[in-house]
Amino acid sequence: MSNLVIMSHKYYSRTDKTPVEISDAEWKEILSPEVFRIARQKGTEWAFSGKYWRTDTKGQYYCAACGNHLFTSDAKFASSCGWPSFFEPSTPEAMKYVPDHTHGMERVEVLCGRCNGHLGHIFDDGPAPTHMRYCMNSLMLDFEPE
Ligand code: FE
Repeated sequence: MSNLVIMSHKYYSRTDKTPVEISDAEWKEILSPEVFRIARQKGTEWAFSGKYWRTDTKGQYYCAACGNHLFTSDAKFASSCGWPSFFEPSTPEAMKYVPDHTHGMERVEVLCGRCNGHLGHIFDDGPAPTHMRYCMNSLMLDFEPE
C-alpha cells in the first residue's frame, strides 16, 4: 500500500508536534500523487471510493501526510455521505478551520494542525454529543488498528 511509502519520509511522525512547514515542491517529492492532490491542492476523493467510509474497526487515525494524530475510532460514526465521518477530533489542536467559499458553497475547510494539509470539511449535521460531522478524505487518513 502507498501508506507504507508515505510513512517513510523524514517529516512523518506520530509523536513530534513540531509544525511541518515545507514547500509544495518538497511535498510533491515525498507524498504519493493522490495524497499530494488532496493535501496540497485541496482535492477530494470520489464519494464511496475510499478505504474508510464504512469501516468501524477500533483504532487510531493519523494524518497521511505528516502523522499527526487526528481521530480515535470512538468518534467515528456511520454516515451515508461516502466519506469517513467523525464527530470530534482527538484534541482541539489536532486541526485548523478555514472558511471555504469555493464551488458556490459556504463551507468550513479542515486542515491538519501540524502540516496544514487539506483533510476535508466540517458540517453541523453530525450526531450527539457535538452534532458536528468531520467529513474526511480516506486518502488523508493513516489508520492503525488496535
Ligand atoms: Fe498533517
